[in-house]
Amino acid sequence: MDMTLGILGGGQLGRMSVQAAQKLGIRTVIYTPEDNSPAAQVADHTIVGAYEDQDALLRFAEIVDIISYEFENIPLKTVGFLKALKPVYPDENLLKISQDRVREKSFLNSIGIPTARWWPVDKPEDIPNILKDWNQEDAILKTTRLGYDGKGQARFNLKKDNPDSVYSLLGGSPLILEEMVDFTSEISVIAARDHEGQIEIYGPVLNEHRDGILHKSVFPAPLLPQVTKKAVEMTFTLAEQINLRGVLALELFVMQEGIILANEIAPRPHNSGHWSIEACAVSQFENHVRAVCGLPVLRPGQHRPAEMINLIGDDITRLEDYKGRENVFIHDYGKSNPRPGRKMGHVTILM
Ligand code: AMP
Repeated sequence: MDMTLGILGGGQLGRMSVQAAQKLGIRTVIYTPEDNSPAAQVADHTIVGAYEDQDALLRFAEIVDIISYEFENIPLKTVGFLKALKPVYPDENLLKISQDRVREKSFLNSIGIPTARWWPVDKPEDIPNILKDWNQEDAILKTTRLGYDGKGQARFNLKKDNPDSVYSLLGGSPLILEEMVDFTSEISVIAARDHEGQIEIYGPVLNEHRDGILHKSVFPAPLLPQVTKKAVEMTFTLAEQINLRGVLALELFVMQEGIILANEIAPRPHNSGHWSIEACAVSQFENHVRAVCGLPVLRPGQHRPAEMINLIGDDITRLEDYKGRENVFIHDYGKSNPRPGRKMGHVTILM
């Protein structure tokens, strides 16, 4: 296809989106502040520049037809600047909502998607006051912005913890206090929606976290049919209400009696959908590229149950153990420094 897709961000999600675009004959340009990023290693072209560098952004916009992003903390100003030059999908409204936990939860609740009880925190005294109001002893305090992989959050117990120290540990307001959810499992559903409003779904996927970071995803998730149905319906509602063009993921908590609460929106392909590369005819990345570039999304066409395991930090050295095993597919993101907590690669096991 005679088209060039520009992607803001150079991480592994960008890398796998580039690989999907290549299959469709779509050229790719990565815009990233980092040298030698995972996506730059495979893209046709890369512009290394700060997200505030208008000259570099202008050069980027000039050589692409359509722009997307692979990372939710792209400054809104950057997207606003680019949007005046080339179409950006998904729309910045989704980015704006998913960058701020208060906005995110307000939006989800406004479209009838339940979340854990929450309240904004402006000062340390708010924390015990809200908990007393809720008649609860435990809660989670989170930064409203820039939290990921369990970073920027702390548990709080009314009897044991000091509000001032927890408040300052997280860097002060804006913060949000959330009720502790006694979940039985964590799941996610990924939706791809095209310009004609067609939606395709991946999931629900069962997710297991270690130290706040996704460790393992399993599809299909062993859930009661009514839980699966409800989780998919919530994700449909979200994709429609936000007028999605692209891919998003909705992270959910499943509680006793099949009650589901939304936790977080990711405005992009999601780590819990990586198995779709090998287990589906059309991966989340291909449907993302399709939707953003104006092609219809296609049925995922999953042909095998699958499990995905993240290789975090030094886990990457275990790649050797997986090489040569039948039905095991390795992905190395090409990152040179295996810092603790850093996603270095993943493996997908077809069952
Ligand atoms: P988050 O950064 O919001 O995705 O949270 C990271 C992880 O913390 C989640 O995957 C959950 O395991 C846990 N968590 C977050 N919020 C809550 C909550 N309100 N209640 C219980 N566990 C939570």
